[in-house]
Amino acid sequence: MEVFKKHYVAIIGGSISGSEAANLLAKNGFRVVVFEMNKLPYGKIEDGLPSWHISLRDRQQKEIDKKLNQENIRFVPFTKIGNDIPFKDLVENWGFSAVILANGAWQDRTLSIEGINKFKNKGLIYQNDFIYWFNHKHEPDYNGLKFQIEDNAIVVGGGLASLDVVKIFMIELVKEKLKSKFNIDEDIFTLEKKGIDKVLLNHNINFNQLGINGVTLVYRRNAEDMPLKSPRDESVESLLKAKKVSGKLLNNYLEKYKFKFKPLSIPLDYVEENEKFKGLVLQKVMLYNGRIVPIENETEILYSNMLVSSIGSIPEKIEGLEYDYASLKMKEYTDYHVFGYNNVFAVGNAVTGRGNIQESKQHGKQITKQIIDDHLTEDAFEKWLVNLNDTIKTNVSKNIDSIINKIKNRDIQPDDIIQRIIDKTQELNDKNGYIDYASWIAKHTPVRLETLIKNNKA
Ligand SMILES: Cc1cc2nc3c(=O)[nH]c(=O)nc-3n(C[C@H](O)[C@H](O)[C@H](O)COP(=O)(O)OP(=O)(O)OC[C@H]3O[C@@H](n4cnc5c(N)ncnc54)[C@H](O)[C@@H]3O)c2cc1C
Repeated sequence: MEVFKKHYVAIIGGSISGSEAANLLAKNGFRVVVFEMNKLPYGKIEDGLPSWHISLRDRQQKEIDKKLNQENIRFVPFTKIGNDIPFKDLVENWGFSAVILANGAWQDRTLSIEGINKFKNKGLIYQNDFIYWFNHKHEPDYNGLKFQIEDNAIVVGGGLASLDVVKIFMIELVKEKLKSKFNIDEDIFTLEKKGIDKVLLNHNINFNQLGINGVTLVYRRNAEDMPLKSPRDESVESLLKAKKVSGKLLNNYLEKYKFKFKPLSIPLDYVEENEKFKGLVLQKVMLYNGRIVPIENETEILYSNMLVSSIGSIPEKIEGLEYDYASLKMKEYTDYHVFGYNNVFAVGNAVTGRGNIQESKQHGKQITKQIIDDHLTEDAFEKWLVNLNDTIKTNVSKNIDSIINKIKNRDIQPDDIIQRIIDKTQELNDKNGYIDYASWIAKHTPVRLETLIKNNKA
């Protein structure tokens, strides 16, 4: 099947799923522009995975580099679609034959307690901001939000990311107490890898000697309901096995990192004193046929100066796109073809809102293959044309008429459109001082904490 190789396809987001899509398109002869809002294209790998995942981070980043640093791919960093370039402008005026959203899920779900957001960044912290700070706070030129690690903090969540948050708290608290009380230097990497219990045992120190109360993870269900282990398939046996493993994993974490766990509790209200956040009121619940049912008159107050909400991330809304509550609205019967457009698609966390690296990679690959097969081949265009012919007289807009004329003339992206895409992206890159992929990445990769520790500078 012949592919129109002249096309320029735009991808929004250069991380796991975006680089996968770009690579597959480039390998199939398409030209690709990858717009990335940050200087680096690594998304959650750089700013979401806690920085102790050194080898996972380095391996994934190398893979992304290999995928993006190709002749057919123009990387346009530091350019946010929706801000620097309006989405509709990109789709309607730039002349791309397709636009693929691979922009992930970067907006924290809002904690649903009325009025609580007045404490945002003053007692209430959202997970994405918190992990970004944790990963970058050691950089000499870091000028983002700053947080203090507080003992007694509350973390509301239940997924892997919320466990990362409680681990960060406990590791930082123990590191500080080991230094201030015992003059012992332990870095976060050792504490994370060996576990707080083993590190303390090595120093012959009992956890109680540190004088740490500990952070509490609040979860609406039980430990075995946490999505810590994905079931192999949908069978009852696999589901039960995954539950058992999740329960075990949580117990291991509790032992290793010494935090507290409060299951079957949902945030109901907050405690305020002198306009400051002072605690969380929890509604106790039970599970009835898998459903969460509040237990009448059973509440509990956890007093604390700090609450971290880690209840999941959703795609950041982009003007020009429609959403069904938190999810990008898709065309009927598809889960990747974006509603309202013929040539806009979505891959990775932008669609799934969850999942791990492998799942996001797989999703990027599978869906891009489908986009190529179903929408970007000569056959696909012809099929599309034939299907359209029946309805064309009644309800097709002028815009589609002109597209069809272009398709008939095999003239979807004539040279002047291609040249305009090249000129416009060049202009953006000139403004940012971007010359080529490798030198840009080298210039903007921040100093790593492990390097500072190795050189005794942290
Ligand atoms: C705290 C945390 C810990 C995790 N730990 C693990 C783990 O240990 N193992 C694992 O396998 N998975 C883990 N994951 C999941 C994994 O990181 C994601 O599944 C994966 O990174 C999703 O890839 P993606 O490309 O779809 O999205 P992202 O990685 O989020 O990439 C989206 C990209 O789009 C860019 N972008 C967003 N909006 C725009 C815009 N408007 N214009 C231009 N660019 C834009 C972003 O800057 C980003 O580069 C974790 C996730 C979190 C949040």
